[in-house]
Amino acid sequence: MKGLIFNIKRYAIHDGPGIRVTYFMKGCPLECRWCHNPEGIRREIQEVERVDRIGNKQFTVKETVGKYYTSEELLDIAMKDMVFIEESGGGVTFSGGEPLMQEGFLSESLKMFNLYGIHTVVDTSGYASRSTIDLILPFTDLFLFDIKHLDPEMHKEYTGVSNEKILDNYNYILGKGKQVIIRIPVIPGFNDDIKQMTALRDFVASQPGANINRVDLLPYHRIGSSKYRRFKLEYKMQDIDQPSTGKMKEMKGFFAGSGVNVKIGG
Ligand code: SF4
Repeated sequence: MKGLIFNIKRYAIHDGPGIRVTYFMKGCPLECRWCHNPEGIRREIQEVERVDRIGNKQFTVKETVGKYYTSEELLDIAMKDMVFIEESGGGVTFSGGEPLMQEGFLSESLKMFNLYGIHTVVDTSGYASRSTIDLILPFTDLFLFDIKHLDPEMHKEYTGVSNEKILDNYNYILGKGKQVIIRIPVIPGFNDDIKQMTALRDFVASQPGANINRVDLLPYHRIGSSKYRRFKLEYKMQDIDQPSTGKMKEMKGFFAGSGVNVKIGG
């Protein structure tokens, strides 16, 4: 079996504990307005044109985005960094896109890394069927689980899907005793108002005994915006400013005030 991957990041330090190799899998059932990896949304190999500049000269470079890998090939890549991975208490992370969209390949790969005693993280939107969750659960050491908004309508408007299935899976995963880091993207005009932040904070704090390692508040940024044109997607966040450092610190204090272990960034 092969999996479609659009990027592999070695020496990743924001995708789980320690130094990791992160595999970015192609395909996502959501279309979040702020997505900074739009190249991960379509589950297909894409041919795009990139404009590069050297001095005053401009070049158009054709680029193929997405490549099929076997699980063994992913293992070989991780093995090259094993000294750093072991020394730092790291491992491998499957991100995307949405890794759960390629459930067969993902479960096969996770199982293999498990056999080699390598720590596994799945970075997910949580939007998947229960059978998919059940398939990967035994081989996933830690979930990076996105909680974006608690109102189903708002969630649908900004991401294309409702949050019911996501929250249901979140509760299911916690109920199974799995380790979770919650990731909340802080998106101005979507979830950064006091009402929604209070709801999110209370939601997290309502499960004090659960295995929630931490909450990561991820400030919206425009880093991926230039890719939208390349992938023929509309960027709807053009007029939205990034949250200020002061605002992010305020939010961190707000969550910490309820006893939540919280961090800005991943
Ligand atoms: S869930 Fe993540 S990868 Fe998918 S569209 Fe949203 S931000 Fe992008």
